[in-house]
Order: sequence, then C-alpha cells, then structure tokens
Amino acid sequence: MSMEASIRSFPELLLQVGRSLHATVIVDLEGRIARIDSALAAAAEWGDGVPPEGRDLEEVLLLIPWLTKALRTALTGTETVSEGGVRDQLMRAVVLPVFGDDGQCLGACARLSESDPTKPWPAHHAALEQELTRTQRQYEELINTIDGVVWEADVDFHFTFVNKQSERLLGYPHRQWTQEPDFWRNHVHPEDREWAQAYCMKASREHRPYEFEYRMLAADERVVWLRTIVTVLAEEGRPPRLRGIMVDVTEQRRARESLEQSSSLVRATLESIADAVLALDTHRRVTAYNKRFQQLWQLPDDVLEGGPDAENTLAAALHLVKEPKRFADRIREVYANPTLEEVDTVEMADGRILERTTRPQRLGTAIIGRIWSYRDVTAEHQAREKLEQSASLLRTTFDSIADGVVAVGANKKITAYNKRFQQLWRIPDGALLENLDAVQAVLAAAPLVKNPERFVSRLREMFELSDVADVDSVEFRDGRILERTSLPQRLGGTIIGRVWSYRDVTEERIAKAEQERLLAAEQTAREQLEESFAVLDTFLNNSPVGMGFLDRNLRFIQVNDALAALHGKTREQELGRPFREMAPLVAANVEPLIYQVMETGKPIIGLDMALEVPATPGQLRYWRVSYYPVRTTSGRIVGIGVVVVELSAERRAQQERERLLLEAHEAIQIRDDFLAVASHELKTPLTPLKLHLQRLQKRCASGQPIPPEYAQKALDQVERLSGLISDMLDSSQIEAGRLELEREPVPLREVLREALAEIRPTCLHHPLEYEEGAEELIVLGDRDRLEQVLMNLLENARKYSPMKGPIRVTLTRNGAEALVSVSDSGIGIPEDQLAHLFERFFRASNAPVSGFGGLGLGLYICRHIVERLGGRIWAESQAHQGTTFRFTLPLQAQVPGGNAS
Ligand code: ADP
Repeated sequence: MSMEASIRSFPELLLQVGRSLHATVIVDLEGRIARIDSALAAAAEWGDGVPPEGRDLEEVLLLIPWLTKALRTALTGTETVSEGGVRDQLMRAVVLPVFGDDGQCLGACARLSESDPTKPWPAHHAALEQELTRTQRQYEELINTIDGVVWEADVDFHFTFVNKQSERLLGYPHRQWTQEPDFWRNHVHPEDREWAQAYCMKASREHRPYEFEYRMLAADERVVWLRTIVTVLAEEGRPPRLRGIMVDVTEQRRARESLEQSSSLVRATLESIADAVLALDTHRRVTAYNKRFQQLWQLPDDVLEGGPDAENTLAAALHLVKEPKRFADRIREVYANPTLEEVDTVEMADGRILERTTRPQRLGTAIIGRIWSYRDVTAEHQAREKLEQSASLLRTTFDSIADGVVAVGANKKITAYNKRFQQLWRIPDGALLENLDAVQAVLAAAPLVKNPERFVSRLREMFELSDVADVDSVEFRDGRILERTSLPQRLGGTIIGRVWSYRDVTEERIAKAEQERLLAAEQTAREQLEESFAVLDTFLNNSPVGMGFLDRNLRFIQVNDALAALHGKTREQELGRPFREMAPLVAANVEPLIYQVMETGKPIIGLDMALEVPATPGQLRYWRVSYYPVRTTSGRIVGIGVVVVELSAERRAQQERERLLLEAHEAIQIRDDFLAVASHELKTPLTPLKLHLQRLQKRCASGQPIPPEYAQKALDQVERLSGLISDMLDSSQIEAGRLELEREPVPLREVLREALAEIRPTCLHHPLEYEEGAEELIVLGDRDRLEQVLMNLLENARKYSPMKGPIRVTLTRNGAEALVSVSDSGIGIPEDQLAHLFERFFRASNAPVSGFGGLGLGLYICRHIVERLGGRIWAESQAHQGTTFRFTLPLQAQVPGGNAS
C-alpha cells in the first residue's frame, strides 16, 4: 500500500493514529465507531455478536454520556480531558481530534485510564482554567451572534453593556450606547418615549420581568420597531440592574399589519359574499364564519363566539336539516378524510335546499383546517327539478302519443324521434337515428311507400327551412295510410328545423269509407222505409179497417182515418192523445184487456162488440176488434196494435138472408098449401062432373031422355072449374104484369044490378039487400073485371055466412069517388089477419078447409083491379059478427053538356 493511498484512506490513517495513541475508542468525522476496545464495549454493555464498528458513538456508548460528549467536542477540533464513571470506576479520558495532512479533521480518539486521585491538583486545575476561558469565549461569541441587542443597564436606563449586534441594529457605534448618557432616551421614538420610560420604571419598581414593543430611531433615521424583554436583577448588596434583549421586530410588525389588512379584507369579503362560510382548524375549532352562516343556521352569537367548536355548532344546527343523522354522519365522514373536496346538497327541514362545498384549507402544502360554504340553491334546484320534470314529461309525452314524430334540424340531421315513429316506419330497435342524415333516412324508408319518387322529392323540398305548414298523406305498400303533418320548429322567432308527425289513419279511413257506405245504405233504407211508410200510410188511411198503435201509456202513436172516424175525430186530433180520452165509451171495458196483452204478450183476436159510435148516433153497429202486442226486434213490448173491423154490413146481409130464407120457407109453405088447396079445389068439381056425365052417357046409351037439370049440374061443375082456373090465370098474369084492363066508362049501378042478378039464384038462403043512390055513378074501367070484383065479394059473403044471414050491398058517392060496400053477418075475420086479406093465396085461419073452399086468389085479384083503376079496397070485420068489404073508384070527371066517353 502506498503512502498516498494510506493517507487518503482516512479510516486507515485514523486507526493508525489511534493505535499509536493506544486509543481505547476511535471515531470518524461523522461520529461513527471505527474501533473500540472490547473491554470498553463490554463496559458499555454493547450486545454480543453485533460488531460496534460503523455505528454511531452515542448508540454504542449510550451508558457513558460524558465520554460521548467529549468525543463530539473533539470532533469540533477541541481536545479535552474528561472524567467520569465507567461502571463503578472513575475513569479519566484524554480525547483528541485527529487531523489529516491538509488540516482537515478526520475523526477523534480517546484514551481511557483509571483516574488517579493521588495525581497533583494543579495540573487538573490548569485544565479547568483552560476550560473556563474557553467557555467564556464561547459565551461571548454566543452573545455577539444573537440577532438582537443584549444589554445591561442601571435602573435609569443607562446602558452598562451592549453586545456587538447593537451597532448593526440601529447603526450607532456600540460604544455610543454605553458612553452617551441618556442614549436610550435620546433615540427612542418621541411618541413612545414617555410611556416606554414610565413602563420601565414601573416594572423595575415592581421587580418583575416585562416585555414590550416600541420604536427607536436608527442612525439613518429609519424607524425600528424593537421588542424588548427586560429582567430586573436584584443581587444581594448590589443596586438593582436591568438586563434584557432588544430584537428588531420591524419586519414582523409590517408582516402583522399586512396580515391584519389581508384578514380584514378576508373578513369583508366573507361578509359580502352570498355564501354562508365556516372555517375550522384541524382541531375543528371555528376559525372564521360570516354573518350569513350564522343566519342560515340560526346560530346565536355565543355558539360561535363563546365556544367555537364544531360539535357545538353542529348540535345547534341539526334540528334545521331534514335528515339530521345523515347530515351529521356525512360531516364526520368528511373529517375522517382531511383531503376530501366535494360539493353536495343539504335538504333543510323547511324545504330549502343548500349546496354545500367543503374543501381543506391549506397553507403551502400543509392542511391547516377545512372550509365549508353553503349556498341557498332552492330556487335553482326547484327550477332544475321543474326543468327535469318538464323534460321527462315531454319525453314521456313524446313517447306516449299516438303519432310518430321526427324532428330534423337545419343541418338536415335527425334531432329527435319517438318510439311510435320507429314502429310506423318499421325501424329496428337497435338502429339509432339521432344525428343521422335525414336525406339518407328518407331514401332508406322510401321502399316502404307506394310512390317512392314522389315521397323522396317531396321530403327533400321540405328539408329547406321554411315557414310552410303542410298536411298530406302517405300510402304504404302494405296498405297502411299515414297522415303526415309537417310544421316548422321555432326557437323564439327563428326557424331551427322542421317536425313531422305521422298518424296511422288506415283504420280511420276504412272506418270512414265504411261509414259513408253505411250512410248511403241507411239513406237508401230510409228512403225505402219512407216509401213503405208512405205506402203503409196510404194503405192504412184508405183501409176500411180501423187501425192504430198505442204506446205503453196508451197514447195514440199511429192511427188511421177509419179508426179516428169511429171515435168521431180526425187523425191529427187523435195522435198523441190518450186512448181513454179518444174512446171514452169503450175505454173502461177495453183498457184492462189492452194491459193484459201488454203483460202477457198474447194477442186478443176477434173480440165482437156491438155499440153506437159518435159517427153514427142511434145506430147499433157491429165490430170485431183485435189487440196485438207490438215488439221491438229484441222482443220488448213497446205498445199495442189495434185492428177494428166493422161487421155491420155483414150482419145486415145475414139478417136479410135469414129473412129471405124465412120468406122462402113461407112461400114454399104457401105454395104447398096452395097446391093442396088447388088440387083439392080442382078435384072437388070433377067428381060430381064425372058422375053427371056418366049418368048422361048411361041415359044416352039406354035411349032414355036426359033431364035438363042433369046437364045443368054438369055445367055448374064445369063453371066452377073454369072459375078456379080463371082465377089462377089472372093471378099469374098479374104477377107477370100482363093483366089487361079495359078503360071505358062503366055505370056502376048497372054492374051492381047485373052481379046481384047473377048471384041471386045461388043465394036462396041469403036475403040480398041492395041500396043505391039516384045518381048514376060512372067510373072509367073494365066492366067485366069490375063485375068480377063484385061477384067475388058477393060469393065470399055467401060462402062465409053459413048461418045464412042477409047480404047487403050499397053504392054511394063519396066526393069524387064511388064507394061500394058488401056486408055480411058471417064468420068474420080475425083482427090480426085483416092486413093480409088481400095477399095472394091468403086464407084466414077461420076459413073452413072444405065445403066452400077457395084458392085465396079472389081478394088478391080484386085489389089489383081496384088499385089499377085508381081506387082502394079494404075490409072491416069482427069475428063472428060479419064482414064489410068496401072499395072506392074515382068517378069519371063530368064533361059539361057531354056524354061520358
Ligand atoms: P076464397 O077463394 O078462399 O074465398 P078469397 O080471396 O075470395 O078466396 O077470400 C080469401 C079469404 O078471405 C077467404 O078464404 C076467407 O077466409 C076470407 N073471406 C073472404 N070473404 C069473407 C067473408 N065475407 N066473410 C068471412 N071471411 C071471408
């Protein structure tokens, strides 16, 4: 190893020096152990196994502090001799710095040996002296290096000592302080002089230290603020002295002033801002707050001023927030995280909403507290909520409306559309249209519509911003029809785009077409119905059958003329009127029946009625009435149909038929009677006639003479037959209207006389009485037929007078008529049969059937002849008392001076 190298390698050199000094311990410049005697290490109780080399000397020599102190002193370049205990032994150490060749301190070494108490003191004393001087020198250095004036003065403030810093502080030579009497008074700022001096006097009298700040004037006339600490020294046997230190605090003063300024600025700022602010230090003590904070949290002054601590503040404010626990927890969370910066909101119990900002307060990089600020954002919050609400409402509305809506901006990009739009245009869910080019979208959609070219060109036109509102419809290939409405989208007065809304009107259109079709059908049906009604009305009103319709309250809803007429009313009068009013005569009987029909739903058909109606008073008419329930298609009974058929004519016809039948029966009876009578009457003369003729025949055959009475008797019978047959012939001629009558003047007296003469031979048992006037009574007529009338009356008188009473005949004039009567005292005629005497074939009930039978034709023929000649014929009779027949004939008008012709 070269010399140079060993010098440079300081531990080596150090160790070398140390060993040569028999050093017990060697340390390097940093105070690390370079070598230590194992005995010393053991004495310092350094642990086994761990090498002490390289460790700090304080660590290794922990138990021997006086030695470490000496070693540290040596490292400053000062050698010392120290004594102290090592274990129980007093040891003495010589501690030396070790210097390298360039004079640089390399380290130190100490050599320990047992202290020898017998060693002479002077050497020890000298060492102490030396040490003391050194200490004093250090002390002076220390005093002179203090940044302030260290001074001593008497109680009158005359300086006895000042350190060298005094010169630097005020610029006066430091000797001037002690040599110039009243130096202090002379250089104190005039404003501070009085009080500062008084203050000092007072303090020295009271023998207590004091401290104050005042101004002095420097040599260059600067004002220097000094902080002075004064101690009163009162030593036994010596006058009290003042000792102190003056420190230049001008800079501090300035800093404090500027701090005060800035804090007042902060204060003013705090009070002027709208936010409520609270600042806390790291111990959560309130360092600042503003009035607004106090008002916001309704904090009394004492909470903040008296015990400015966050927990108090919090407790006082909790009742104001809506969720106190959450609020408090949150604040604690924030404190748990000192660097946290955040903004959140606090809901107050009264509904207000505060925005809270909190951030740590930093000084440089250090966190020195936390600032909370609160701002009332209720209005903003409400506004935002409202905005959000209306936005969501808008969105929901947008999506819920039945129309498909799309909006296109000025840049021809789609800005919004709703779900319905997506559905209508069959746009898949994933496809995002927003911001898509509208023209692209139109081209993509075009194939869906029936006329794509027109669709595209039309929309292209409309993408140009304009004020035009437009409605048209788009037909789809799949049959749908969409109605399209297009409106400009405005923002204030500016058009910023266009909105299209599409509505599926397919159903609507179909429904409309269907409705139109139905309307037309209904119109046709109505017309047909009206026609049918007209027909029905005509039919109803011209029907001889009475018809009407009553509602459930029995009011006439419909009635025809025939039915109204029965009630003596017109149709118009009856419509809407109650049945009871219109037909009072039948209502009482009929209403229960009508209600019955309404209740049971069973019609009453063919109810016969006979009554007088107002239309034909006093005439009984016959009706057949039916009541039918009238139902709606659903089966509900809405009223009653009434049908009234008149049967009066039928009834009359039937009665007539019955009468005719009766008459026919009577006629047949008469005919049968007549035939019986006629055959009997005709046969009666035939038997004697046959007998007479046989007798005549027998007389002729035997040649015997024929007595004339025989022939006469036969002729009488023939006469009788001929009379019967003449009557029958006359009767049939009368019936056929062919009986012919002569019209000639006939003197009645002659006719009567001839008739009487003719009957007389056959009336042997009936005395004939005849009476006539003087006046010739001439009538215009048929002489034979008049004689026939007379003969018939005379023969009847004879025939029906079996008691053979007289027959009386009279001829008188009665005004312009001739009156002829023929009376008898025969069987008479029952009174009830007198009226029928002159009917054909009539024979009174008391007329005998045989003996003097007849055909009942004589009087019939008489009446015909008399009446044909302008006269009358009648009978007067009383049963069993006889009968008188009379007839009149108009007399022929007398022609003056002339014959009757
Ligand atoms: P008849 O051939 O039956 O006599 P008439 O026509 O002459 O027919 O008379 C009708 C009826 O009148 C008679 O059948 C008889 O009953 C009644 N009659 C007519 N004349 C008399 C009379 N003089 N006295 C009573 N009855 C008479």
